[in-house]
Amino acid sequence: LLSSTGDVAPTIFAEISGLAARTGAINLGQGFPDEDGPAEVLEAARAAILDGANQYPPGRGVPDLLHAIAEHQRRWYGLAVDPDREILVTAGATEAIAAALLALVDGPADEIVVFEPFYDSYAAIAALSGATLRTVPLRLPDFQPDPAELAAAVTDRCRVILVNDPHNPTGAVLSPEIRAEIVRLATRHDAVIVTDEVYEHLAFTAPHVPLATIEGAAERTLTISSAGKTFSVTGWKIGWIHGPADLITAVLSVKQFLTYVNGAPFQPAVAAGLRLPDAFFTGAAERLRAKHDLLAEGLTAAGLEVHRPDGGYFTVADATAIGGADAAAFCRALPERIGVAAIPLTAFVRPEHHARYRGLVRFAACKRPEVIAEAAARLAGLR
Ligand code: PMP
Ligand code: GLN
Repeated sequence: LLSSTGDVAPTIFAEISGLAARTGAINLGQGFPDEDGPAEVLEAARAAILDGANQYPPGRGVPDLLHAIAEHQRRWYGLAVDPDREILVTAGATEAIAAALLALVDGPADEIVVFEPFYDSYAAIAALSGATLRTVPLRLPDFQPDPAELAAAVTDRCRVILVNDPHNPTGAVLSPEIRAEIVRLATRHDAVIVTDEVYEHLAFTAPHVPLATIEGAAERTLTISSAGKTFSVTGWKIGWIHGPADLITAVLSVKQFLTYVNGAPFQPAVAAGLRLPDAFFTGAAERLRAKHDLLAEGLTAAGLEVHRPDGGYFTVADATAIGGADAAAFCRALPERIGVAAIPLTAFVRPEHHARYRGLVRFAACKRPEVIAEAAARLAGLR
């Protein structure tokens, strides 16, 4: 009804989580942790509720959180962000993405360039905005784009280059060359870079490099992140976006009519989280990396070919060798067959490009070690 492209339809997460619930399967499909975040953060939310932070907060966000985000960007990345003019708190990263795209593009003559596979909301919001989505494939084996294909996709019609780093679903982290090329192309064609960095603190192989820190980028970059991933509170839906004041004002003008404001008591709690010592953040990445290791062991033992992630919640594995050449069919059968749910990579890919990723399956590693071990034992049944 809403979209001729079929991008605005029930999400794959709802379908696979429903299947997992019906069959009692271990759900390695939708990415959400099965443990709560740090006690200090949870306690701060409870205290905020009891202290009366229960009415509409300010439109841009609670000042304490705006300041904590600015401090966080300076502390981790040396970025100078004005908390009063250059930050907006949103209903998760999802709303930040939606409000940014709806603010920046206007109809089919405007193009959004995105790497494919991509997080599913990108195409849905592009469709709602009416803009044209141009995809640049991430190429196997390491899921990096080809610089020539990227350069060819970005023209003067490009209004937004939409980036996700570390990347869902592939687990890839962009190479320094591609980061520089994105900034060069955006500058040459006067495009805005919208960068979804929700997995910023879950990078395993190198410290995260925000696109906004690349020379020349800050003046045209909107950076998005979320408390959901960093503090394992995906249900709180507190995200944020920062960038040049005029762009943030444009995003705010859309956001005010989407949700108006968000989660008053959660905002001071997220501020407390952002001020936690470094060891919390590095510890979270180390723990998740160990879970990926455990998952990779299980997948390899089951006969899948694992693509080790550089960051994020997900490990991608090729199931072709064990009869999963059609990963979509494989994933629909898997919960019933062995009691594990996972998502085919094609769920994040345009139908005309499915062939490139046909045997690939995305598994969420953000689960307790004993849950991953049990999933691995069940996967062994595939042999
Ligand atoms: N972007 C990416 C790449 C994600 O993986 C997610 C979480 N699924 C989101 C955005 C949405 O984040 P939030 O829950 O904060 O809206
Ligand atoms: N980010 C999670 C995933 O990719 C959950 C997304 C969602 O439920 N909308 O699985």
